[in-house]
Amino acid sequence: ATAENYLSINNIEVIYDHVILVLKGVSLAVPKGKIVALLGANGAGKSTTLKAISNLLRAERGDVTKGSVEYKGQRIDQLSPNELVKRGVIQVMEGRHCFGHLTIEENLLTGAYTRSISRGELKDSLEKVYHYFPRLKTRRTSQAGYTSGGEQQMCAIGRALMANPEMVLLDEPSMGLAPQIVEEIFEIVKDLNAREQVSFLLAEQNTMVALRYADFGYILENGRVVMEGDAEELRTNEDVKEFYLGLS
Ligand code: ATP
Repeated sequence: ATAENYLSINNIEVIYDHVILVLKGVSLAVPKGKIVALLGANGAGKSTTLKAISNLLRAERGDVTKGSVEYKGQRIDQLSPNELVKRGVIQVMEGRHCFGHLTIEENLLTGAYTRSISRGELKDSLEKVYHYFPRLKTRRTSQAGYTSGGEQQMCAIGRALMANPEMVLLDEPSMGLAPQIVEEIFEIVKDLNAREQVSFLLAEQNTMVALRYADFGYILENGRVVMEGDAEELRTNEDVKEFYLGLS
């Protein structure tokens, strides 16, 4: 990959449990500073693609059997999720994995565990997260488990930001949330992208919303990329509209 193609996955094949072929040769790239949407119906392989990048497959008995993952021109497919976070690549898992018994602020602080930073820097990072997510500031002493779905999703993204990432793999941030909250979260993602130059690979079933915020999109079907293009182009494409408008 070229250096400008920040993240690239090349012809990845993933097999679960030694037998279930889920990704059948997927290639995609996320250039520096862009938001790239990874789209497709439930079960198309979006989450698996993100997990293949961040090396979270093993826990689920999944295996990359072919292909490679590169970040800034270097192979990263043998690195542990922790090492990846240190290099600036972090995944926000589907289903908002916040610790329900911790407060919002405690959750955010756990996100900085891979960094050896001073208290001052920690405080600055926290303030930055609160700047982008004012709702989290309001709720900072609340137990995460008692906050709303939208706030928990914000907490999960905020916690990832505490690791000071360059590239965030964001899995289905809209899941189960009201349209208005989805817009609020995507606006913040767009803002982080514009002001902090954080790049995003965004897995979404909510095709049309994702394409309004993304720069580029890939559509996965049955473990294969069946279409790719500029977000604007995909959004106005008749096949995409017909196929996904009703499904999102
Ligand atoms: P979703 O929106 O449900 O997350 P997705 O596009 O992200 O959909 P994946 O979760 O990547 O899809 O799943 C792709 C396929 O892999 C599905 O058929 C799913 O049943 C299968 N799969 C996912 N995880 C496992 C696993 N741990 N073991 C076996 N098969 C799995």
